Amino acid sequence: MPEIAEVETVARGLRPLAGRRILAVRFGKTDFIDQPDRIETLLPGSRVIEVRRHGKMLLFRMEPAVPSPNPAMAPIWLIVHLGMTGQLVLHEAARPAAPHTHVWFTLDDGRELRYTDIRRFGHMRIASPEELTTLVAPLGADPLELTVAELRRRLGTRHARVKALLLDQHVLRGLGNIYADESLWRARLHPMRQGSDLSEEEMGRLWRAIRSVVSEAIRLGGTSISDYVDALGRRGGYQKRLRVYRRHGRRCARCSATIERVIVAGRGTHFCPRCQPAPRPARASRHSRAASAKKRLHPAPRLR
Ligand SMILES: [Zn+2]
Repeated sequence: MPEIAEVETVARGLRPLAGRRILAVRFGKTDFIDQPDRIETLLPGSRVIEVRRHGKMLLFRMEPAVPSPNPAMAPIWLIVHLGMTGQLVLHEAARPAAPHTHVWFTLDDGRELRYTDIRRFGHMRIASPEELTTLVAPLGADPLELTVAELRRRLGTRHARVKALLLDQHVLRGLGNIYADESLWRARLHPMRQGSDLSEEEMGRLWRAIRSVVSEAIRLGGTSISDYVDALGRRGGYQKRLRVYRRHGRRCARCSATIERVIVAGRGTHFCPRCQPAPRPARASRHSRAASAKKRLHPAPRLR
């Protein structure tokens, strides 16, 4: 599933579209598109001002064909979420379309930007500046812009598993299963550790791990395990660098213990049981700490 590094790679590949005009829009199936008629009305004739990533979304900032009398409606934003198997690829218009192509944007340079999605878990819509603001408001911090202090602030008070927190788009935007698992392995943190239980030093390790894993993945053009390709249809290279993700049963590259897979936050989670030690039992409350201190002084007879 495309995560931060894949979406960033696609966004960078599409940046040269700035200045190009969309001449026409054509649809196949539209069940993953919000208000396709609005796209068909607003996009033809519009010009790409900018392409960028926000979390796992691709944002196209478009100048409308006809200046809107209402300045609040300009620019218009085309928002694309690749879901599980979405691909947004530039093709020469003469080239036959791949199966499962559902959107064609005809460009003014003889090419087409085509959206292909086998499973159609992706999402596409148009937004006004105001709608975009509402959409992105609940999202968390970008892992590449995050400071260690902000990571501490977002995770350090949370009684939730760190893997769940990393996946939560309201905490950080853009991480998914691959980069959460890889970051936790690099930081030597067990995925079931509680956010509030991480020390200053561990938080620093996690912060550095997230940045280095994500930057390296972007440098290698993302991870292609199933369908992901970049804006020119090329596969990424980070799948060769994965250390734990989908490597259960194989040896840890750091300590050669066997990588395990468990379910955390409803997702398959991969980790090394030796270099990512399991959390200590939940910190006892003052009351139960006193009770267990008493128990240590007066141990109950062992039941055999
Ligand atoms: Zn290990």
